[in-house]
Amino acid sequence: MTTGIDKEELRKRLTPLQWHVTQEKGTERPFTGAYNKCYEKGTYTCVVCGQELFSSDTKYDSGCGWPAFNEVLDQGRIKLTKDVSHVGGNLLLLIANPDMMRTEVTCSKCGAHLGHVFNDGPKPTRKRFCINSASIIFYEAEKDKKSST
Ligand SMILES: [Zn+2]
Repeated sequence: MTTGIDKEELRKRLTPLQWHVTQEKGTERPFTGAYNKCYEKGTYTCVVCGQELFSSDTKYDSGCGWPAFNEVLDQGRIKLTKDVSHVGGNLLLLIANPDMMRTEVTCSKCGAHLGHVFNDGPKPTRKRFCINSASIIFYEAEKDKKSST
């Protein structure tokens, strides 16, 4: 992949957990992530490349132990991939239980693993983007920003 990101530099910049989640498709332990209970206004960006991914406006408490969003800022900013690794390629199991099909969410710019998306979220999208805190950085919105020049 030609992302222009130096893997050695990246390994030094990220914490071991951030590296594990984004580069090795790891998952942080539930209820341990920095943003699980964060409801400040702002924007969540990719920890690797800085692309803006999610807005606090779409964040909600899903109770699953990871930050959950019901929409991305822009569909083009993420890449969705069907992930059947957790059933060990047992497709019959998936046919019998279609809800077990997971969709992996990665950053469209750098390919960092972010989490998974499920279809059991709240209206109107019904989507639940279950995202690792370790794969995103939160930038708080400027409070009471005046639009004067
Ligand atoms: Zn990225």
